Parts: sequence; C-alpha cells; structure tokens
Amino acid sequence: MTERGKKKSSRRPQDLRHRKSVKRYRSRRMKRRSAVLWALLLAVIILLAGSAVVYGFLKWDGEDAGNEKTAKDITIENGNVQAGRAQESADGVSGAASGPQKEEDGGSALPEDSRRGENTATEEHHKTNGLAICMYHYVYDEADPPDDLGNNHIEVHALEEEIKYLVENDYYFPTWEEVRQYVEGELLLPEKSVVLTFDDGAKSFLDLGIPVFEKYKVPATSFLITSNDGENKVKEYQSDFVTFQSHSDNMHRAGGNIGHGGIFTAMSHDDAVADLKKSIQICGNGDAFAYPYGDYTDDCRAAVEDAGFTCAVTTENRRAEVGDDPLLLPRVRMSRGQSLESFIALVE
Ligand SMILES: [Zn+2]
Repeated sequence: MTERGKKKSSRRPQDLRHRKSVKRYRSRRMKRRSAVLWALLLAVIILLAGSAVVYGFLKWDGEDAGNEKTAKDITIENGNVQAGRAQESADGVSGAASGPQKEEDGGSALPEDSRRGENTATEEHHKTNGLAICMYHYVYDEADPPDDLGNNHIEVHALEEEIKYLVENDYYFPTWEEVRQYVEGELLLPEKSVVLTFDDGAKSFLDLGIPVFEKYKVPATSFLITSNDGENKVKEYQSDFVTFQSHSDNMHRAGGNIGHGGIFTAMSHDDAVADLKKSIQICGNGDAFAYPYGDYTDDCRAAVEDAGFTCAVTTENRRAEVGDDPLLLPRVRMSRGQSLESFIALVE
C-alpha cells in the first residue's frame, strides 16, 4: 500500500469515524445550542417575570409610600388639630388659672368652698347705686363687754347676723382688683355686692371676728398696723377668708396737722413709701391700704400709688361710685347697736 492508499484506506474509516463524530458532535452541539436557547428563553422569562414582580412591588411600594404620606399628612393634620385643641384647653386652663391669679392679685386666694359668690352682673342687672365698702373696727361679746366700748365696736352676734344675712341673700364679695375695675368703669358688679373691712387689726377682731368669717366662709379684709405685732398676728391668725392688708407700718400715730392729725400727712415721700412697703412685706399683700384716721393729702396719695396699691380707702362716709379714685375710696361706717334692718339699708 502506498502511503496515500494507506492514508486513503486509513482515512476512510477515519473519515467515517470523523463524519460520525462530526454528526455526533453536531447533534451534541445542536442539543447544547437548544439547551442554551432554552436557558436564554428561561432567563428572559425569569427576567421578565422578575422585572414584572419588581415593577409590581415598586409600584405597590410607591403607592404604599403615597398612602403612607397621606396617612402622615392626616397624622400631622390630626396632630395640628390635637395640638390646637391642646392649646385651646391649655388656654382654658390658663383662663381658669387666671381667675385664681386675679384673686391672688385681689389679695384673697380663697378656697373653692368660699362664699365669694359669682359675678352675675349683666347689662340689665348690675350695681348702679354704689358699692358699700363697710368699715368696721372692733368686735366684742355682750357677755364680756370691754371698758372702752365705743361706737366703733360691733357685738359679735350682731356681726354674725349681718354676715349670715349676706350669705343667705347670695351677696357677691368682689376682690380689690374688681373694686378698682368697678370704680374705673371697667367692670359691672352684681346688684348685691359688698366689701367688708376691719381697721387696726385689734385682738378683739382677730379673736372674735375671724371665726365668724371662717364659719360662713366669707372674705373680709383686716387692715393691720404692722408695727403693732404685725408679724406675729399675720402668722397666728392666718385665715383662708380674712386677708391682711396695710394700715401702714408705723404711721397710725399723731404728728400731722391735717384732719385727725395723723403723721402720714407730715411724712416725707420717701419715708412714707418705705413705711408702706414695709407693711406690705409683713402683711404679705399689697392690694389695699387704709389711710390712718382717714387723713390724706395729694402727697399721701402719691406715696400710696408709688408703693403699688391697687386700692386705698379713706373714712369718707358714703358708697363708692363709678368715677371715684381707686386710691381715695370712701367707705360706709358700721356702728355699734345698728339693727339688721339699718345694716341692710346701708349695704343693699
Ligand atoms: Zn385705724
């Protein structure tokens, strides 16, 4: 055999084998190709499906985010609404708190069960005949009358009868701040309104008078001469209903040439203001002042104003009217032996 023949002869089977292998190869390659195609198709399907799912998810998430936003908005709106309501109720609370605050300003933060009453004044029904600021001084018990019994004394049972009458007839007891507003024409007061004051802070009032006000839960003012054991009196006779206010620290004495001769009218402005401020500090209140003996001058009034009082009372005997100076208020004098009828006539 020639090389070629050899080759040929050898090639043939080789070719055959080759062809077969090529065939096998081709079919394998076809299978591989189709497998790859299937895989590609599957991948595309998976991709499409996946992106659809992702798109759907994103879309859902987006909507959800949108909803969430809306929900947040609502929450915020609700928050605002709630904050608004909270503000409103806070105002309500502070409004309610401004009541007692006002009372503190008026010098008598009273317990809730006090008989101050309510200011029920209306345009149709309010006090038009003047406000009686009653001026009392001393209290005594007829079973044990004092040696110096005078016109400025009131018998304790007579006092109780008067206070009881005021309570039973629903009298209103305005604060000093309200008295100021009343005379300045800024506030209407109920037809039945009255203010009760006791001058000098005498033991007789502290021992016999205060228990009456405690019993009927009615507010009253005790004008203390604070240099006369004021600190101890304020401590010892502390009351929810009787408020201590200034009758000067040490100006309830002779030394002037005006009126009853009280020294206040002869004091320098600075000394007077210093005295008044000292008494305010001891009383723990500076809402009202009672001029010693009722004596005053323009300089006295200026000192009272500079000391910061809301109201000041004299001994001028009449009711306080709209238009009166709140720092020169008249009072209605209460006298020993006055009948309940005469008391009613004086205050109603
Ligand atoms: Zn006095």
